[in-house]
Amino acid sequence: MFSETSYYFRRAAQVMGIGERIQRLLEKPQRLVKVEIVVELDSGELGTFTGFRVQHNRARGPCKGGLRYHPTVDEDHSSALAALMTWKTAVVELPFGGAKGGIDCDPTRLSPGEVERITRKFVSEIHETIGPYSDIPAPDVNTNAQTMAWIMTEYSRIHGFAPAVVTGKPVELHGSPGREEATGLGCTYIIAEVIKRTGGTIADKTFAIQGFGNVGSHLARHLALRGGKVVALSDVNSAIINRQGIDIPAVLQHVAEHRTLAGFPHAEPFDRDELIYLDVDVLVPAALGNVFTRENAHLVKAKTIIEAANAPTTPEADEIFDKRGVLVVPDILANAGGVIVSYFEWVQNIQQFRWELEEIQGKLHRYMERSFKTVWDLARSKNISMRTAAFIVAIGRVGKATVLSGV
Ligand code: NAD
Repeated sequence: MFSETSYYFRRAAQVMGIGERIQRLLEKPQRLVKVEIVVELDSGELGTFTGFRVQHNRARGPCKGGLRYHPTVDEDHSSALAALMTWKTAVVELPFGGAKGGIDCDPTRLSPGEVERITRKFVSEIHETIGPYSDIPAPDVNTNAQTMAWIMTEYSRIHGFAPAVVTGKPVELHGSPGREEATGLGCTYIIAEVIKRTGGTIADKTFAIQGFGNVGSHLARHLALRGGKVVALSDVNSAIINRQGIDIPAVLQHVAEHRTLAGFPHAEPFDRDELIYLDVDVLVPAALGNVFTRENAHLVKAKTIIEAANAPTTPEADEIFDKRGVLVVPDILANAGGVIVSYFEWVQNIQQFRWELEEIQGKLHRYMERSFKTVWDLARSKNISMRTAAFIVAIGRVGKATVLSGV
């Protein structure tokens, strides 16, 4: 996976005419921490897991990035996602570098108590690596506000009160209003910007969303609030379709009760893996990476793809989309809403002053709108893809900060 995100970096760096040595300096992660986590499971047996934290680049500020709990978490994945965070924070102009990490566990097979023990043990192993002014984790796949609360309390037990060590905390425990929905809402703002330039309104478009977790569910809700017709949704074990538009408040209620889309009575079930081939105006991957590949990219019918997930498009698929004129808004721009409101949360923790939700959403809107315009205008003026344009903007900012601080 790291080689794939590197491919996008190198393609943009070549367009910019950046030399090989500087490319190497900006490409590789600066620090990788790997720890063994041993905890007692509910059965009384010992469970062993491996935890990772990768800090990719610190030129523009403390490192920032999520923690993922998933069996696929490893050094390569964490490095790729850490690099994406460097480019993401730069493209939306946050004063952060990029990091990522996680634990190679499967939380669906663990009790809440086991997940808490694993999380606290992980913090006890990496507490010297993270910190409010060095590296600030946040939620990602299979981690949430509760996980962040455990990290904050464990870190504070060692270092003293430090709410700014993680973002995405519960609002009742130093979290920010608006953080939980920020990535989905940010994607909605991006979709509105695309449609403003390509014609029509959200209300006359159809949408299919792969993944109905934090990002997918809030995105569906915000699209529906604006009259958008979400016709298909999927999660890890099911998919549902209703050409008339899925009743999103009803499906949210269903998932809150049953924890799955399966069995939702007002839509038809269909094969989860077929969702990406549906004939819709806008297709949104909001689950895991490597969804679009050389094998399936030419079968995708949607003319606009919004990358809510990180790294859903392989370089081969990206080339196919480019040739076919499919508009792809890249992950480092499309899903930046989460890290933007994480930044607002960090600022509030440091200020020890709570902002109002309207202020947060207004600022999020301005950050997304401004970043989208910069990338769109560059892509149009140079006749390059939005992904290459976004990388050029980001590499320029990280490169300048690196030079100014002295190599
Ligand atoms: P989540 O764990 O809350 O939800 C993931 C969803 O994907 C779940 O509904 C799960 O069932 C579904 N899923 C898993 N495998 C699937 C498959 N093969 N087909 C269809 N659905 C599948 O995670 P999340 O926080 O919503 O993150 C989703 C994506 O967005 C990830 O790529 C993550 O890196 C990215 N992202 C998240 C945030 C954030 O703020 N949470 C910010 C930026 C990017």
